[in-house]
Amino acid sequence: MLDIDAVRAQFPILSRQVNGKPLTYLDNGASAQKPQIVLDTIQRAYGEEYSNVHRGLHTLSTISTENYEAVRGTVARFLGAPSEEQIVFTTGTTEAMNLISYGWAAPRLEAGDEIVLSVMEHHANIIPWHFLRERQGVKLVWVEPDVNGDLDPQAVLEAVTDRTKMIALTQLSNVLGTVVDVKTICHAARERGITTVIDGSQAAVHMPVDVADIGCDFYAITGHKLYGPSGSGAVFIRPERLAEMRPFMGGGDMIREVHRDTVTWNDPPMKFEAGTPGIVQTIGMGAALEWMMDLGMDQIAGHERILRDYAREQLEGLNWLNVQGRSEDKAAIFSFTLDGAAHAHDISTVLDKKGVAVRAGHHCAQPLMEHLGVTATCRASFGVYNTKQEVDVLVDALELCHDLFA
Ligand code: PLP
Repeated sequence: MLDIDAVRAQFPILSRQVNGKPLTYLDNGASAQKPQIVLDTIQRAYGEEYSNVHRGLHTLSTISTENYEAVRGTVARFLGAPSEEQIVFTTGTTEAMNLISYGWAAPRLEAGDEIVLSVMEHHANIIPWHFLRERQGVKLVWVEPDVNGDLDPQAVLEAVTDRTKMIALTQLSNVLGTVVDVKTICHAARERGITTVIDGSQAAVHMPVDVADIGCDFYAITGHKLYGPSGSGAVFIRPERLAEMRPFMGGGDMIREVHRDTVTWNDPPMKFEAGTPGIVQTIGMGAALEWMMDLGMDQIAGHERILRDYAREQLEGLNWLNVQGRSEDKAAIFSFTLDGAAHAHDISTVLDKKGVAVRAGHHCAQPLMEHLGVTATCRASFGVYNTKQEVDVLVDALELCHDLFA
């Protein structure tokens, strides 16, 4: 069992007040807070060790480069990737998906080829494929979750035709909390020669991930949800796909030689990392991932299961609250609307007055909102530092909303 008081003590921001109330931070699905070790690492990287990477031969450049490159190994360990050479750094999942779209899919997919995706996807895992639809006539094939929010792997596989070139799925819905059995899907897809892209933005925060076991071709993570800095992230890419990819962004670092009439590329992964990267962001992400691995991903998942069960029980007691997504094994992410006219934004504003931070809106998942028949929801998303007492604070604040708006 994790000592949650000790975990919380590592997050300076958690001891602040908001609107005169102790902060109850339940917006982890949007972005997580940062532990002291990450703040210290950023401070040291800028204050004592800073220089550009991969360029200078001087001492600081060497230290910076070593610290930055060491994170590739950390990410590989965190994701169960066989080699750090299969890890490309990004600024987050949005960049990863665009890299895959421009670098791998655009040169390969032709008019009439199909991409299967679920209506639960975040826009980051939709728009790059819409580009291919608009520009190249690629067809997007949508699969829906069932009434509980579960996505049946068989439904995904039944959507596959002989024109399917790619399946792009989230492993964990940022709105419903549903965990998708991506392993079954990826293994079946691989047998049929279909490329799989997994959005691990949420899953990697809440559960252990092993890309070798999942069997996917691409797996994207984003540092800011993993208790690390914004503007950091990484994508695991299977070596066969890496070899097939053309560069996405052009500039420094991704080249070997440039002449007036010709250019040759650096080897992967640097072939896909143009320009000065997010040096300190990446180093900070490395500290965050080490911190998570030290806590233990099983321990984190275990604590969040306790929170999920308690929150589920408490929220079910509010018979005027409509929780979206009732998957048994969901993560501790609860999207809800209130009976009556209250808009999600109004609810979120009242909660904020009580110091409770939640997200209100479409959560960058408009196809899912359409599927659910709502325009917006409020979302309380829990992280490793949250407590049962904070569930109680949320419930009290929701009761106040009900009193105000009912
Ligand atoms: N995918 C999912 C499931 C997300 O929840 C998010 C962020 O909300 C993203 C992708 C986008 O990630 P990033 O902020 O790194 O671009």
